Amino acid sequence: MARRRQLYEGKAKILFEGPEPGTLVQYFKDDATAGNGAKSGIITGKGVLNNRISEHLMLRLQEIGIPTHFIRRINMREQLVKEVEIIPLEVVIRNIAAGSIAKRFGIEEGTRLPRTIVEFYYKNDELNDPLVSEDHIIAFGWACPHDLEDMTSMAMRVNDFLCGLFSGIGIQLVDFKLEFGRSWEGDDMRIVLADEISPDNCRLWDNQTNEKLDKDRFRRDLGNVREAYQEVARRLGILPEAGNGGDMKGPETMQ
Ligand code: C5P
Repeated sequence: MARRRQLYEGKAKILFEGPEPGTLVQYFKDDATAGNGAKSGIITGKGVLNNRISEHLMLRLQEIGIPTHFIRRINMREQLVKEVEIIPLEVVIRNIAAGSIAKRFGIEEGTRLPRTIVEFYYKNDELNDPLVSEDHIIAFGWACPHDLEDMTSMAMRVNDFLCGLFSGIGIQLVDFKLEFGRSWEGDDMRIVLADEISPDNCRLWDNQTNEKLDKDRFRRDLGNVREAYQEVARRLGILPEAGNGGDMKGPETMQ
């Protein structure tokens, strides 16, 4: 692999300078963390699976007109993306109560919410990504009302589409997290979907059994984490021919 300049290392991904101006290479690691780094581990092959799953979902979303940062997958662990200015918000879309909303309001996990709920969290590890209101976002200048409207309407469209896509493969989309960025072309700015969409940032439950097919398996020590991610890839029809989720060797062999 040609040596590229590393720009940023996150918990599950590394961003490198891209081959052309305005592009980045997004590298998917096998590292998993939970509770803002309180728990960490390696899930061998996770990066390969998330790269493929996120590519697949971003491409499907582009087909329905959602602008995304995704350009193309480069290899097993890397994808080429547009360089965007990340908006420091995590946009969480919830259909069924689970995780923090279940705890916050004392709702039993698995209860369908009366309507889809969109929440915003301020991306800041030191503060533990606090839940924020639209007023906080506008007052502190993280996004303007127009950006917020764009993000909310895109989040709802993504949710509608992904609920249908997952339902077709026997999976309930319980909730998920999106990130958005500003993409500039000259003086024109548009908000695009960024980051990744994978079992790392979605809750995916089997329709029949409610079995968890996502990162909660790691967070809650349920075991078979990689197998669950593989099952999602298999149902999406994107497992490589070998049928083993791709070559699950270390990153050094994943060119
Ligand atoms: O923990 P909580 O219930 O708020 O998570 C809601 C959704 O957002 C889950 O699908 C979780 O995987 C995702 N999430 C995330 N990154 C975070 C927080 C939540 O991907 N930092």
